[in-house]
Amino acid sequence: MTPWRIMRIKCEGTQATALTETARPLLLVFPADAVGETLAGAFAAKTGAAVVGRIITARQEGADLIVTRSTHGGRLILALRVLPGLAVATANDLECEAALSLGQPDGLCVEREPLPSEGTSLDGADIVIGGGRGLDVEGFAQLERIASALNGAVSASLPAVDLGLAPVSRQVGQSGKFVNPKIYFAAGMSGTPQHFAGIGARARIVAVNTDRDAPIFSLAEAGAIADARILLPLIADALENMQAT
Ligand SMILES: Cc1cc2nc3c(=O)[nH]c(=O)nc-3n(C[C@H](O)[C@H](O)[C@H](O)COP(=O)(O)OP(=O)(O)OC[C@H]3O[C@@H](n4cnc5c(N)ncnc54)[C@H](O)[C@@H]3O)c2cc1C
Repeated sequence: MTPWRIMRIKCEGTQATALTETARPLLLVFPADAVGETLAGAFAAKTGAAVVGRIITARQEGADLIVTRSTHGGRLILALRVLPGLAVATANDLECEAALSLGQPDGLCVEREPLPSEGTSLDGADIVIGGGRGLDVEGFAQLERIASALNGAVSASLPAVDLGLAPVSRQVGQSGKFVNPKIYFAAGMSGTPQHFAGIGARARIVAVNTDRDAPIFSLAEAGAIADARILLPLIADALENMQAT
């Protein structure tokens, strides 16, 4: 049985250190931030490596690697079995069993090109349009339309990021970004302290939620008990019509 090796990839400055060796089984761990996740995805697409996402722990079991990752806002922990080969993950604080070797690849450099703009930055945005687990891909597309009409920035809750509805760079909250807008529009979010820890006190909250008892309504100054799938397109249409006239 060949032991798994784990290598942490550093993404610093204008270069990312890349892999020079090909011996496997090998897990490459990129930083769990916007740059690291982008590079991990690009690397996996290029090499066909298995993608295991943002992980917390790794240990070897027989020939396989068992990694764990958090899901549903930390309520559940998934244990994933990775078959021997090449795999990529992201992590900040990774716990590994002692037998696994930690190393730094060296040599070859990866050229980095700036990614196309992701839309208005959350930093300094006066209007933030946020989406939570209650939305789907179409819901987030409507948030983009609303944000674009208001010159605002789109944010997301952790579960929405976990579901792949928004990049991690858009996550607001305790383990995400801090924003300090004048208006925070929250659609399909329940209103948890972990999310609202990332929103400045001056923000006036506007909420859309199907559940009249959702905690978000005790934080919001205005809100609609409504299905976001119906309401968001109507808001986006109205704003775009206002712009057109
Ligand atoms: C250590 C730690 C750190 C964390 N850090 C963060 C963080 O940084 N940011 C963060 O967001 N969370 C964080 N969390 C997770 C947090 O605890 C919550 O799980 C999360 O904020 C809930 O996100 P949500 O409101 O999108 O989802 P949910 O709580 O599941 O709420 C979804 C809401 O959508 C509503 N809904 C469903 N369908 C519709 C519809 N069609 N139209 C309108 N409304 C609908 C539901 O009624 C519900 O109220 C953290 C948790 C831990 C343990």
